[in-house]
Amino acid sequence: MNASVINIVYIISAILFIFGIKMLGKADTARRGNLLSSVGMLVAVLATLLDRQILGAGAAMWALIIGGIAIGSAIGWAAAKFVKMTSMPEMVALLNGFGGLASLLVGWADFQYFPNKGTPVDNLYFYKTATILAVLIGGITFTGSIYAWGKLSGKISGKAKVFAGQKLLNAFVAILCVAASAAFVFAGEYKCAHNCLIAGIALSMLLGVAAVMPIGGGDMPVVISLLNSFSGLAASAAGFVIQNNVLIVAGCLVGASGVILSVIMCKAMNRTLYNVLFSGFGAKASKAGGEIKGEMKPISADDAYFVLEAAQNVVFIPGYGMAVAQAQHAVKELAAILEEKGAEVRFAIHPVAGRMPGHMNVLLAEADVPYEQLCEMQDVNPIMENVDVAIVIGANDVVNPAAAQDKSSPIYGMPIIEAYKAKTVFCLKRGQGAGFSGLVNTLFYAPNTRMLYGDAKSTITDLVSKFKD
Ligand code: NDP
Repeated sequence: MNASVINIVYIISAILFIFGIKMLGKADTARRGNLLSSVGMLVAVLATLLDRQILGAGAAMWALIIGGIAIGSAIGWAAAKFVKMTSMPEMVALLNGFGGLASLLVGWADFQYFPNKGTPVDNLYFYKTATILAVLIGGITFTGSIYAWGKLSGKISGKAKVFAGQKLLNAFVAILCVAASAAFVFAGEYKCAHNCLIAGIALSMLLGVAAVMPIGGGDMPVVISLLNSFSGLAASAAGFVIQNNVLIVAGCLVGASGVILSVIMCKAMNRTLYNVLFSGFGAKASKAGGEIKGEMKPISADDAYFVLEAAQNVVFIPGYGMAVAQAQHAVKELAAILEEKGAEVRFAIHPVAGRMPGHMNVLLAEADVPYEQLCEMQDVNPIMENVDVAIVIGANDVVNPAAAQDKSSPIYGMPIIEAYKAKTVFCLKRGQGAGFSGLVNTLFYAPNTRMLYGDAKSTITDLVSKFKD
């Protein structure tokens, strides 16, 4: 097929990707956005099949292609169908990792054919640079993501692993990576270049693990978003290797969106990317998150019901515990009952509540909570003093007053939902467990706070049944 036609089709695919990504930004258009991007990918795949004359390939080649698609689709479908919402970041980690591995394999495989290429490549140094970039970034992404997956899924301890001289060692491995890359690009002889490529693969894989090791399990979502960006860059480099324009564009889109997301997450935690990557957050035993006065005061569901019955203004503040308990449907039911009784109901969403960006929005959308009830942190904080009851459901760090009040706290400066300003605060959690940062939460000890112990879903269901009795 004519190269210009192929390029026009690729531009159409890229436009579909861009509009698809834009539509993912809103819950009500997200499904259609996903579909649009998938159509873009289908168009790109078909164009590539035509462009590279694969359609006329032999039966054996087609058996391989169809077999690969079938196996990959079956695994992908099953994983997406059965993955729990709480395990979504792990799933994304695996997808990134395999994306990186795919780019590594494309770069490596293309170089296998290098000595046999009938026509010499246009620009040898450019070709080799693209190859080594695809391989190196792909290698770092692959092992870094697998390690991150291990931490998030609990297969490896989630604690940051730090040791003396670690940064120096990592810098040394990074320098070796650069040296192997330079040797690869400038090596005159194929065998020597190939050996350097293999060394680059091994070193990049080592660097992936070494770079993620000192990062705590709770920071993994930021790391995963960054590795997502890397997988895009690796794909883009692979696109230069095999001279496929749509792969270059799609890779850049993933690369850019991953970086933007990482920066948004860091801002919401009031931390720099440098701090997330190199501070070993969570490696040392954490200290109290502020001076503790008073004690935690439990409340029974019966008493909580009486307080709620009289409330005119209620704010739900969901956190990671709501996701763990899968309490969103019960929460929506309670919210509907309160609203029916004349109370004003809102859901205050912190940007990093949960374990991935938009985690709470996804759960609440799944439970059909109306979008109008969802409030962002900056909109809800100014009215918090007028709130009769703030119901904190398995949220901890995102409501910890130490972030606003205690300069010595590791989370000082992280913007929080100011639940402590509400007239009464109910905190739903199972026991004395700490949040992701491991810090003590002074909110739990505040005079206006009452602890509703138990699994969030059973507690909320219990409250709902009291309203129904
Ligand atoms: P936290 O992890 O701070 O706290 C979760 C709370 O839920 C715990 O106090 C736990 O207490 C409680 N909990 C767990 N299971 C249940 C259950 N079944 N029923 C009731 N309660 C339960 O969550 P937050 O959402 O407040 O904060 C998110 C943290 O993750 C922040 O520190 C943020 O910086 C970090 N983070 C988030 C990212 C994101 O993209 N969203 C990215 C990187 C980091 P107990 O064990 O006693 O029940």
